[in-house]
Amino acid sequence: MKNKNKNKLVNEDVKIPFDKLEELEKILNSTISRQSKIHVMYRIAGGNCLVCRDIPSKIVKYDYGDGLGERIERYCAKCFERWVSNATRTFT
Ligand SMILES: [Zn+2]
Repeated sequence: MKNKNKNKLVNEDVKIPFDKLEELEKILNSTISRQSKIHVMYRIAGGNCLVCRDIPSKIVKYDYGDGLGERIERYCAKCFERWVSNATRTFT
């Protein structure tokens, strides 16, 4: 059965400059507190993977239209692939 989801669904790459990505990886591999790591993740990547909390590489946007605004989710490459293969939604 096909999902009759009318919401506009788009995905785009998370754009993190290479030096920032290196900085982020270094920080995530350091021993600073988890809270600090999350803080840095939000500052550099805008958030973390919804599933595994890793560095996100894809942004999925749900545009509800009707002035309801949009919802944004982030996924790392691995979780995005799994999400896409499970989802019956089609991207626009
Ligand atoms: Zn993930």
